[in-house]
Amino acid sequence: MQSTRLLNLRIAHIRSWVMFRVDACMITQNLKNEYLQAMGVQRWLVRAAGESAVNDGLQVLANDIAEPLAHDWAGLEQQVSACKKCKLHETRTQTVFGIGNRQADWLIIGEAPGAEEDRQGEPFVGAAGKLLTEMLFAAGFSRADVYIANILKCRPPENRDPAPEEVACCNAYLQQQIALMQPQLILAVGGVAAHNLLQTNEKVGQMRGTLHHYGETNIPLVVTYHPAYLLRSPLEKRKVWGDLQFAQAVYKRLRAE
Ligand code: SF4
Repeated sequence: MQSTRLLNLRIAHIRSWVMFRVDACMITQNLKNEYLQAMGVQRWLVRAAGESAVNDGLQVLANDIAEPLAHDWAGLEQQVSACKKCKLHETRTQTVFGIGNRQADWLIIGEAPGAEEDRQGEPFVGAAGKLLTEMLFAAGFSRADVYIANILKCRPPENRDPAPEEVACCNAYLQQQIALMQPQLILAVGGVAAHNLLQTNEKVGQMRGTLHHYGETNIPLVVTYHPAYLLRSPLEKRKVWGDLQFAQAVYKRLRAE
């Protein structure tokens, strides 16, 4: 009786140890995949006999890895328009690269194209776009005085938030736009833009009114609400006015230095 109990205890111990190893292995594998994905590296999988490589995206990714990013605006825009790195290419009408003055001091970064942007190929059109134009006007700019881009270049279906893997795929394009433009100041409009640019989950309300800096470039970055949010909460407009005044003060100080 005693020996049976001991045997059962040992079996239970061995079983829990094996389960721990399996879990740990899966966690490590998932972590590995996440790191590789963040670095833009696609893992190659062993294919079953007869399985086709056509249209499954692997060949496309292989081509993308082989193709370095263009170092000029026209080349980069062309790469984006042909991009199939994430699933959003399947549902887009067209890519939305960005618009405005490529030598501007101010770069406005939003979230992703909506239905109207997807139709027109231009960021921030429609009601939210009109409000952004008014916000810029209040800060003393026209749309042509700044450059406007998004975190994602293709519209997520049903205007849902961008998925992390979509941002990871698209991020290099925005980084290259920033490198080409070298803006003096970035205005991140809305939580999605702020979270991805600053790698944080803080609420927009907590990030407002503080001067942030974008990545290793250290470009000054100011956070404000997205105009789409202001359309739903018009009382918050005065806060955006405050944010724009803050951004203007930062910009003037930089120019005076
Ligand atoms: S969202 Fe970006 S990465 Fe995805 S297909 Fe469009 S351009 Fe390519």
